[in-house]
Amino acid sequence: MASILARERDTMEKMTTTPRILDGIAIAGEIKAEVEAEVRALAARGIVPGLAVILVGEVPASQIYVRSKVKTCGELGIFSEMLTPPESITTSEMLSLVNDLNARDDIDGILIQLPLPKHVDTKRLLEAVSPDKDVDGFHPVNVGRLQSDQPGFAPCTPAGIMEILRRSDLPITGQNAVVLGRSDIVGKPAAMLLVNASATVTICHSKTTDLAKFTRAADILVAAIGRPGFVIPEMVKRGATLIDVGINRITDPEEIAKYFPNDAARAATFAKRGSVVVGDIHPAAFASAGAYTPVPGGVGALTIAMLMQNTITAAKLRRGISAGKK
Ligand code: NAP
Repeated sequence: MASILARERDTMEKMTTTPRILDGIAIAGEIKAEVEAEVRALAARGIVPGLAVILVGEVPASQIYVRSKVKTCGELGIFSEMLTPPESITTSEMLSLVNDLNARDDIDGILIQLPLPKHVDTKRLLEAVSPDKDVDGFHPVNVGRLQSDQPGFAPCTPAGIMEILRRSDLPITGQNAVVLGRSDIVGKPAAMLLVNASATVTICHSKTTDLAKFTRAADILVAAIGRPGFVIPEMVKRGATLIDVGINRITDPEEIAKYFPNDAARAATFAKRGSVVVGDIHPAAFASAGAYTPVPGGVGALTIAMLMQNTITAAKLRRGISAGKK
């Protein structure tokens, strides 16, 4: 009886309290501070962790991502090297670049910025990266390690989702988690991390019938589909934790007004940049959540921090230093 009353009280509280905003920037800051401390501890043993980033051609979005990865390495004391082969590079030339990096002792992590030009065999290249230096967690060996809950490298964005949940003390064990999206980079690994953390997981995708039936049952809803404002309030369980991975740039002022009515800050961003970013969850759906990640400033903020953490883990594991359970 007491437990029923407690559960009802809990439900009532969830129905009346304002949703908690899960501040990805603050959590990423915490992780980066921890990484910086680990870099100092490694430096005291004469170890400087190193990350190599390969950026092919001139894709502006990729250039921005890579620059901020390299900048963060510099801030935290991680050595970084950027390789920028031209768009015309062949698969075999790329393979030889990767093999050189695999053999180098000063490089602990190798990241191949995607997407690669169409003529380059992306799968073959990702498989050529040594699993011990695969800080993106895309190598089949690390995919397998994740599936069997062995220490290894998990892809950075899903790993960031878990950090947000754990560091915010949100329950995972026994929760119904629904992941929208089944990509190799986000959806599938996020689902695997959640199931390893003892959530009951459902993966939905573009062929799922009656998707709202699943989302309405979710205690934790992870949206990673790349469709602006797709998850509307009617699809959300009251009090749920909403994790919005989507990054969708919108440029139509009418659409912006639809997602963010009377939002002076977004209007100012639009006036300045000509676009604003919206997630896969309609901002109106956050009102009934227990907790949610904003866009921007939520999941997106974690990705680089997790890359830095994976690089430190790689540096330690390669030298036989314990990196703790991942
Ligand atoms: P993706 O490879 O395009 O995969 C999208 C997934 O969503 C697919 O599994 C697709 O289903 C599913 N989907 C598409 N439309 C759907 C619909 N109407 N109903 C149900 N499922 C649908 O995308 P991704 O790389 O996983 O990225 C997803 C989003 O996360 C994007 O907005 C991306 O920009 C963002 N993202 C953010 C970060 C970060 O924060 N750092 C990192 C990566 C991605 P099918 O498999 O059936 O086609």
